[in-house]
Amino acid sequence: MFADLHLHTNFSDGTYTPEELVAQAAKHQLAAIALTDHDTVEGCERAQAACAAAGIDFVTGTELTAEQGGNEIHILGYFVDTKNPKLLAEIAKFQAVRQDRIREMVARLNALGVPLKVDDVFALANCRSPGRPHVARALVRAGLCSSLDEAFERFLKKNRPAWVPKMKMSASTGIELIHQAGGLAVMAHPGLNRSDEVIPDLAEGGLDGIECFHTKHSASTAEHYLAIAGRLDLLVTGGSDCHGLSKGKPLIGTVKLPYERVEKLRAALGALASRRQASGQQAGGTPAVPGRHS
Ligand code: AMP
Ligand code: ZN
Ligand code: FE
Ligand code: FE
Repeated sequence: MFADLHLHTNFSDGTYTPEELVAQAAKHQLAAIALTDHDTVEGCERAQAACAAAGIDFVTGTELTAEQGGNEIHILGYFVDTKNPKLLAEIAKFQAVRQDRIREMVARLNALGVPLKVDDVFALANCRSPGRPHVARALVRAGLCSSLDEAFERFLKKNRPAWVPKMKMSASTGIELIHQAGGLAVMAHPGLNRSDEVIPDLAEGGLDGIECFHTKHSASTAEHYLAIAGRLDLLVTGGSDCHGLSKGKPLIGTVKLPYERVEKLRAALGALASRRQASGQQAGGTPAVPGRHS
């Protein structure tokens, strides 16, 4: 029994609808999945319903854009209440900034003589949380670039002429936001930017886990983060970071997290909830209790 806890749909920059994603999960015989769209939880209700019908264990989630010590990091929020008012208000701000960023990137492209229309990007994205992949796809669709790679290489990669930095929340704000929504905060794909030095600080700040298994982590990278998780008493997660058909073959099911890891997450969530209750904290406050996952 395996799980894939890092998946995107067309509520952010994936290509599958929630129902299509769940159909893929069923095809790969996954026992559990989590939906982790960037800066949104909108797809969770539909994914949950489709999972219930398919007999797949569903974990609500999101992937927040954050920073720590100048490094961009992504924080996965698992088991969050998708109706939590503070979470919804905060991500709405980030969605508005994402939309402004699309306008800014298109304005820069236009200034470079690339006649992309902003409405074409929004029509293609058709979601509240658009990002660079939507601009890249719109450039290809309009015949202005021949591939997504070309779009990123020429225009959209960091420090390329149409790149616009993304607004990020502080990591501690992200962790707190997830906790107050009743969730667990997990650092996504730490091997991508190798900013290991921030992990102890994040753990101190209430981080619950790290994503040891990820498409872009080699076996030795996974081992490296498993050791860090062991040392810092952090939970272990994993997922494919599937974006659907945007990058060729869909990745869903290619990272196989043993289902027991999902059970451990649930147990930790339960233990946190009772600890918070016992200490009289409001449900979802950030506990600063060392050894909380042992
Ligand atoms: P954004 O959130 O708008 O900054 O876009 C981030 C997304 O762009 C992530 O899903 C990445 O997988 C994707 N991305 C980043 N760099 C590249 C690249 N060079 N080629 C294709 N996709 C990329
Ligand atoms: Zn993405
Ligand atoms: Fe990410
Ligand atoms: Fe992701």
